[in-house]
Amino acid sequence: MITEVSISRKLLKSILDSAREAYPKEIILVLRGKQKGQKIEITDLIIPPLATKGRGFASFPGWMLPMDFSLIGSVHSHPSEALNPSTHDLNHAFGKVIMIVGYPFANIGNVGVFNRAGNRTPLLVRTD
Ligand SMILES: [Zn+2]
Repeated sequence: MITEVSISRKLLKSILDSAREAYPKEIILVLRGKQKGQKIEITDLIIPPLATKGRGFASFPGWMLPMDFSLIGSVHSHPSEALNPSTHDLNHAFGKVIMIVGYPFANIGNVGVFNRAGNRTPLLVRTD
């Protein structure tokens, strides 16, 4: 079970910036990272092939992605302030981490991180 997820301040900022720019459309990005015990460190963002962006849920076919165990989850934006994953989000989750950024995409207060079961996980912002 994952007990903590960390991301660099810079990476978090670029996620929030892209979500803000795309609003009211949703964005979805793949998270790359490494797992150390029960902690996950997010290291990169990947724009998935054939990502669908629209007013509905942003999704992509999981089979389009390479078999790469460093792909540890995804982040998508919600045009509302709600950070909780929808049933659709949980059913279509990919990897171990579901990150959701909600309007107004200003800071860590607009970010929710969840495991596959939909339980919220603490997010640590690294200064590297
Ligand atoms: Zn969602």
